[in-house]
Amino acid sequence: MAETTLPTARSVTALREQVRAWRAQGLSVGLVPTMGALHDGHLSLVRLALSRCDRAVATIFVNPRQFGPREDFAAYPRSEAEDAAKLATVGAHLLFAPPPGEMYPPGHATTVAVGGTLTQGLCAPLRPGHFEGVATIVCKLLLQSLPDRAWFGEKDWQQLQVIRRMALDLDVPVAIEGAPTVREPDGLAMSSRNAYLGAAERRIAGRLPAILRDAAGRLAAGAAAAPVLAEARQALLAAGFTSVDYVALCDGATLQALPATAPGARLFAAAHLGRTRLIDNIAATG
Ligand code: AMP
Repeated sequence: MAETTLPTARSVTALREQVRAWRAQGLSVGLVPTMGALHDGHLSLVRLALSRCDRAVATIFVNPRQFGPREDFAAYPRSEAEDAAKLATVGAHLLFAPPPGEMYPPGHATTVAVGGTLTQGLCAPLRPGHFEGVATIVCKLLLQSLPDRAWFGEKDWQQLQVIRRMALDLDVPVAIEGAPTVREPDGLAMSSRNAYLGAAERRIAGRLPAILRDAAGRLAAGAAAAPVLAEARQALLAAGFTSVDYVALCDGATLQALPATAPGARLFAAAHLGRTRLIDNIAATG
């Protein structure tokens, strides 16, 4: 991979110095938090940040607090040099890639927990502590950099709603922006975890968005949710998914389950393929 000239900050102090210098020049700042192993979905967020702000900061931090004890923290792909080169190519201005001790110094004891309907269903009961880990690290990243705007992908729809709620409830002075899901040619949502998939699994994975689209079409035509969701679950298992965590129709803002489509309804799924857990969601409105 070619040498990159992307400046990299390792400390909160260095990050703040750079943002302060930009602010002194009257420049606006956009933030794109990631866990690295960057793909075109991540890069689309950086491009959006560059389209709305004078300077774009990407962050890479594999946040241990959002992984459960039996999840893939150790195996999560790490490729900072390649990531930095990709970020430089799309025109990002700064990479913030702190070591764990910078984000969680000894004695760190504060957790941000978003309550209410957003963390009652979907991934929340299956991944205890996950959204607290996400809300805590994103809150820290927003306060450390204090950008004008920060971008998050709709691919992680529940995460996006949790982050919006956290920023609103804590009066964090940053506009939270959602960005559409970037997909592979067969429709599979891009994800760093797709790298775990073997060739046969990768072919099966492409069935997930197709099955969701089919179900969303039936819901949009007026079918009741229960039979459509049950059939989508069966279709995923028949396609070769190892297990299905959920297929759910929910209001996109409250994430509460719906008996049939309604304005703002979304269809959500999470399923396992071997050791890989995939999630996706699409609009399901008439
Ligand atoms: P991650 O590195 O997986 O934590 O993702 C960092 C950010 O990129 C999050 O806001 C994700 O929602 C977003 N993201 C991940 N995959 C995609 C995708 N396929 N399309 C758009 N955004 C994405």
